[in-house]
Amino acid sequence: MLFYKVLILFWGCTRTGSHTRLFEKHIIFHIFYIITTPLSPPPPAKYGGRHTVALIPGDGIGPELLNHVRELFRFSCVPVDFEVVHVNSSSTSEDDINNAIMAIRRNGVALKGNIETNHTMPPNHKSRNNLLRTSLDLYANVMHCQSLPGVQTRHKNIDIIIIRENTEGEYSSLEHESVSGVVESLKIITRNNSLRIADYAFRLAREKGRRRVTAVHKANIMKLGDGLFLQCCKEVASGYPDIEFDSMIVDNTTMQLVSKPQQFDVMLMPNLYGNVVSNVCAGLVGGPGLVPGANYGRDYAVFETATRNTGKSIANRNIANPTAMLLASCLMLDHLKIHDYANMIRGAILTTMNETRLHTADIGGQGTTSEVVQSIMRIIQSGGPLTTEI
Ligand code: ATP
Repeated sequence: MLFYKVLILFWGCTRTGSHTRLFEKHIIFHIFYIITTPLSPPPPAKYGGRHTVALIPGDGIGPELLNHVRELFRFSCVPVDFEVVHVNSSSTSEDDINNAIMAIRRNGVALKGNIETNHTMPPNHKSRNNLLRTSLDLYANVMHCQSLPGVQTRHKNIDIIIIRENTEGEYSSLEHESVSGVVESLKIITRNNSLRIADYAFRLAREKGRRRVTAVHKANIMKLGDGLFLQCCKEVASGYPDIEFDSMIVDNTTMQLVSKPQQFDVMLMPNLYGNVVSNVCAGLVGGPGLVPGANYGRDYAVFETATRNTGKSIANRNIANPTAMLLASCLMLDHLKIHDYANMIRGAILTTMNETRLHTADIGGQGTTSEVVQSIMRIIQSGGPLTTEI
């Protein structure tokens, strides 16, 4: 990015702007950006053939689901060790979250449960999840929402990739009440971060052989903020003539999603719309217990469930659906480039869902969390054919 800026500065000093030159600048941007920035950071070094990953249990169902991940990894002899870091969500001190951030910097990769953010905490108490993402500059949140085999849903054949800007927008935590009864809440949209996330989305779309990217916005009302985001998406799109680009206003998007979700391919959006749209999409394919999510920056990668739920009311009752967290652990194994383990575990999860039809209550079954995990282990042990295609 720095190299790009220097180059553009030089280019801007030597030539005056026209549409052609703007286009030339973007060609240069793409060439250098693509060469210098991988879509996800390289996997960290492994010692003695094993990786170490930071594990942040979080609150609610996080700890029990991550215990199941550990149990399954041990059972499957996955060469991953965990450095467990607990974050106390009710503490006002930032020591815990700083330790967690340090552990991720050390290991490069983390698997986490959601850390509760109670809205009754004082305004200067920042969401620990948000602090973690911004401190590590995990700018791209990626969620792949697919119809799953064996799960009954109203809509079929959904296959949407959602790319959400993860570090700014409405999540700036900048609010003030200078005049009593009047609160100002700042939404920050920057050109650099909008170009960066748009480029991420188009590169991912190309890598995955996708046809279309849809930018989601509310530029008719937030003309400057969302207008800039949309403009950046358009500029980046001009460098990807092989991928179709369109845009949709966020309110229409949510209506289109619940009526005809199959029309979407890759969706690209700022932070808060990303939160809303990911939850709608998770609901469309069966709920928050099913979909994994990933957060990537230049240097670090953090994996969690896509909708980042705490699930406090179902914690410690052995009823939570473990699928989303287990699939998140498979994304992590893919990131570590131990694809055989990822494929084996993912295949056993899909086989349990599709063939044994052992489902937890959230998707209409009567199975417990541990029964689902035991079924996955039995399938791995039997070494039988696995459902690998979704
Ligand atoms: P609570 O769980 O206390 O209602 P909440 O209102 O913050 O907390 P979330 O944690 O955001 O809710 O979860 C939204 C809904 O999804 C809740 O009804 C929760 O029980 C359900 N849910 C979340 N994760 C899972 C899961 N893995 N399995 C089953 N249900 C889940």
